[in-house]
Amino acid sequence: MKLSLIIPCFNEAGNVRPLFDKINEVFENKINDYEFVFVNDGSKDETFKNLKEICESSSRPVKVVNFSRNFGKEAAIFAGLKEASGDLISLIDADLQQNPEYVVKMVDYLDENPEYDCVTAFQEKRKEGAFLRFCKRRFYHLINKMSDTEFVDGASDFRTFRKAMKDAILEMSEYHRFSKGIFSWVGFNTYYMPYAVDERLSGTTKWSFWKLFKYAIEGIVAFTTVPLKISTYTGFFTSLASLIYIIVVIVEKLAFGIAVPGYATIVVLILFLGGLQLLALGINGEYLSKTYIQTKNRPIYIAREIITNDKK
Ligand code: UDP
Ligand code: MG
Repeated sequence: MKLSLIIPCFNEAGNVRPLFDKINEVFENKINDYEFVFVNDGSKDETFKNLKEICESSSRPVKVVNFSRNFGKEAAIFAGLKEASGDLISLIDADLQQNPEYVVKMVDYLDENPEYDCVTAFQEKRKEGAFLRFCKRRFYHLINKMSDTEFVDGASDFRTFRKAMKDAILEMSEYHRFSKGIFSWVGFNTYYMPYAVDERLSGTTKWSFWKLFKYAIEGIVAFTTVPLKISTYTGFFTSLASLIYIIVVIVEKLAFGIAVPGYATIVVLILFLGGLQLLALGINGEYLSKTYIQTKNRPIYIAREIITNDKK
C-alpha cells in the first residue's frame, strides 16, 4: 500500500461523503494505491452510519475505527496511525478545510526528495480574528522559549510522512498527546509547505477559546518542565529578598527603636507571597495530575468495533 489517509471525525455527518468523493476525484490518475482510515471519535450524529455506507459501497480499501466515546482528535490520530498500513501516511481533517490537492503535492514532494520524511502544511497567514492570532503568536513564543522541542507557528496537523516516522510516533505512548510537540520531538526532516485553509463545508469548529487555552497549557506541561523551575527560582529570590528585609527591620529596630507599624507592607507582602505560593502549588499540581493519569496506564482510546471492506 502506498498511502494511508487518516481522517478523524467528530460530528462530521455532512462532510464525510463529500470528502471521500473529493479525494477520489482529485487522486484520479495521480495516486492509485491508497486506503482510507476513518476514525469516528464518538460522534453524536449520523457520522458512523455514513462511514459504514462508504465502507460497504467503496471499491477502495476503507477502514472505520469506531470509538466507544469521544476521546479527542489526538487519540483519533493515534488510533488511525495504528491501523494504517501504507508506506506514506496523510493526516487530513474531515471538514474539507484542507484541500486534498495538497496531499498529491506532498506525496510528489516525498517521492522526489528521499532525504525528507515529512511534509507539513503550513499556514503563512492565519485567517482568524486579531485577538486569537495574537494569543497564538504569544503561545508559540513562550513555549519555544521554554522547551527544547521546536514549535513552528502556523504548522498544522495536515501532513504526510513516511512509515518510519509513524512507527516513532506510535512508540510514544503518553496519554496526554500534544501532537504538534510529538511530531517535532521525534525529529525527521520536515518540509513546510505553504497552504491556504478553506471554509468548513458543514458543521462548526470544535475549538472554543477555553478549549484552546486548556490545550495550550497541556502543550506546555507535556513538553517542558521549566514552569516547575520558575517556582523554585521565584521562591529562592523572594526568600533572599525577605532575608535582606529582616536584616533591615532588625537594624531599624536597634537603631531607632520600635518602627511605625507597617500595615501596608504586611498586607502587600502577605498577599504577594500567598499568591506566589498558590501559583507554585498550582504548577506543581498540573505536573502531578499528568503524572498521576499516566501512571494509571489507561488506554489512549477504546474502539467499540473496527469495520473494513479490505478482504486481505
Ligand atoms: N475532531 C475529532 N475529535 C474531537 C474534535 C475534532 O476527531 O474531539 C476532528 C474533527 O472532526 C475534524 C478535525 O478533528 O476532522 C479538526 O477539527 P475542527 O475542524 O473542529 O478544528 P479546526 O479546523 O477548527 O481547528
Ligand atoms: Mg476544521
